[in-house]
Amino acid sequence: MQDNLLKLITLQDLDNKIRTCRQNAEDGPNKIQTVRERLTALEAEKALLDEKVAANSAGRLELEGQIEELSLRKTTNQGRQKKTRSNNEYRAIMKEADLIAAGLAAKEDELLVLMAEAEKLQAQLPPLEAEIEEESKLFAEKEAAIQLTLSQSGQQEALALAKREVLLPTIPPAMLSRYKTIAQNRDGQALSPVVQGMCRVCRLSIPPQLYNELQKNDKLLTCPNCARILYWMHHPYFSEFCTEPNPQVQTPITDKKERKPKAEEGKLRKGAKTKVTKKVSKNLEDDDSDSQLPNDDRTIAHA
Ligand SMILES: [Zn+2]
Repeated sequence: MQDNLLKLITLQDLDNKIRTCRQNAEDGPNKIQTVRERLTALEAEKALLDEKVAANSAGRLELEGQIEELSLRKTTNQGRQKKTRSNNEYRAIMKEADLIAAGLAAKEDELLVLMAEAEKLQAQLPPLEAEIEEESKLFAEKEAAIQLTLSQSGQQEALALAKREVLLPTIPPAMLSRYKTIAQNRDGQALSPVVQGMCRVCRLSIPPQLYNELQKNDKLLTCPNCARILYWMHHPYFSEFCTEPNPQVQTPITDKKERKPKAEEGKLRKGAKTKVTKKVSKNLEDDDSDSQLPNDDRTIAHA
């Protein structure tokens, strides 16, 4: 029984890994797009600035042409002023001279405005270009990291698939079929670990009697609420899949005053799997001596 349940736990673990790897592969392009967002925004800003610079340059060129044309007209007008003998003609020439002067002044003012604008636009370019360069480097690094994860994910998936192929024929067909049916109806999660009397997937407490049965580990039991196949996470036989310390070991009743603060305890838990497993085994030996749950554990199971 233990062997078969361990095989199912291993199968669930492999299936979860395969699913995560496939999800990673699917999310990869979106992740790359997300880390590129800042660079895309900067490039759009640069394109807009380039457009403004080009429009400013075209505007100045047009004004310079108009100013040149007006200057030519001014020279011609001044020549005509010297040659004319008629008062009427002179007045007309002077009127034209006034118009040309006003036109020139207006165009020169416009040109000054555009020149000031060009200066401001040009000043914005170097910092923006530097920012784009820096962001491009950052993006390249982030993209490489994502690509690496994707490639590792692909290798992990292939490895998990290979292990699965070896494992499948060793599982009794009826058990495998049950696993597959539950997995199909429960988002791929056919098994659930039980910790302190609680089904970890549906988060509901299981009856104390069932919890006791489960710890004996001689039957295939299912959660009365979510119907998943249950296993007691802190059974030493499943220590490879134990992902958290046994709370019964961490909080001995006699040692309450010396308990570390919760935050510190959390730090200790990280990366402490092997130590935890050893502690779990020790605890189970203790448990086996009277083969009963401590009272506080039952209370938690009811809570
Ligand atoms: Zn459940």
